[in-house]
Amino acid sequence: MFPVPSGLAYRVNSPPRNAPVTPELAAELARVLERFAQDAGFTAERPVSIEFGQGIVGHHQVGRAADIYGVQSIGLGKWRERWDARLAAARMANQRRALARCEGVSNLGWRLYKALQIYGRWAQPYGYPIQLFGPWTREEGPWKYISDRLLAAHGDHIHVAK
Ligand SMILES: [Zn+2]
Repeated sequence: MFPVPSGLAYRVNSPPRNAPVTPELAAELARVLERFAQDAGFTAERPVSIEFGQGIVGHHQVGRAADIYGVQSIGLGKWRERWDARLAAARMANQRRALARCEGVSNLGWRLYKALQIYGRWAQPYGYPIQLFGPWTREEGPWKYISDRLLAAHGDHIHVAK
């Protein structure tokens, strides 16, 4: 097992809390994070930073899960607050849609979540939902029926398992 490596357009900025993961999970994260970073306009000269945290339970114990707590030194919970604030500022329904699009482009937390969802292939243990949870799971999926408790537990980070 080893820590998730930095890529070309992204830097993993969280030793020593970047918990070691399996080669399969490291490779999957590296692939998706590179795609996220390049899609968002980052380069080798101007990379985006990704901050991992230390997970403790379940899949984390065997290196099959990782928790991402921040993008560009801003916590996922803060990215989510910023998202909510922008949406609350727009009262009209059509304005809300336009704002969601606009905020989506600049909100790196949301972009990272969507990149992990669209490009990543995550574990789905029998009888359980796909193992991608974070602040946007209820609106964006994949498991829109996420409980209040599980959603609250992922209010400040994104959890993936493979
Ligand atoms: Zn986790």
